[in-house]
Amino acid sequence: MKAKDLKSFFEALAQCFEDEKERLGDLDAVLGDGDHGSSMAKGFAKAYEAIKDKDDEDFGNLFHHAGKALLTGIGGASGPLFAMVLLELGKASLGQTELSSAALKAGLAGAAAAVQRLGKAQAGDKTMLDVLLPVSEAISPNMTINEALELTAKVAHDSAIQTSVMTAKKGRAQYVQGAGLGHPDPGATSLALFFQVFNQSCKR
Ligand code: ADP
Ligand code: MG
Repeated sequence: MKAKDLKSFFEALAQCFEDEKERLGDLDAVLGDGDHGSSMAKGFAKAYEAIKDKDDEDFGNLFHHAGKALLTGIGGASGPLFAMVLLELGKASLGQTELSSAALKAGLAGAAAAVQRLGKAQAGDKTMLDVLLPVSEAISPNMTINEALELTAKVAHDSAIQTSVMTAKKGRAQYVQGAGLGHPDPGATSLALFFQVFNQSCKR
């Protein structure tokens, strides 16, 4: 995977969150305040804007710029938390012009730690962390990047669905009746989309 593929990934991601805006908003309307879909669409449109014309081959710099745009571009709980994922992927891939699975694993582990530090959630609290933790643990540094991304997409998809049987201990969902039981967590669902598009972009 090269820098131009990363730009295509962010372009596809912006399109994906625009297409899924309503569904994610509806999910968040049941579990929170309904803004999650529009936040993701707005944030990832800004992330793509921030890198699309950058003349830079370094994955670390590109992820960093995209993460900064997400951090300043949207409010709510998920803005800074999703920004951590991009910023940590950037830290782990700094100096690389070709993304390795070792950097991907290190970045995702760093992201899980940063999200836990910021949001104070644990595994099973029904948040995006319930996708981030299993995904970072699933991949191994000896895999090819294609194998690693294929696996992250699958694990993220299954893990997001599993949040349906959890009750929320963090975020707005903990205050709604039933704490969201029976519905998947919006942030976990968005993160699964992120990995699905990542995998598709790498294969193209
Ligand atoms: P807000 O809750 O501020 O309206 P969003 O609706 O955009 O923000 O995002 C909600 C998502 O953020 C949740 O579905 C959950 O995945 C994630 N989230 C909320 N609080 C936390 C937390 N403390 N730790 C990790 N993730 C969290
Ligand atoms: Mg919300």
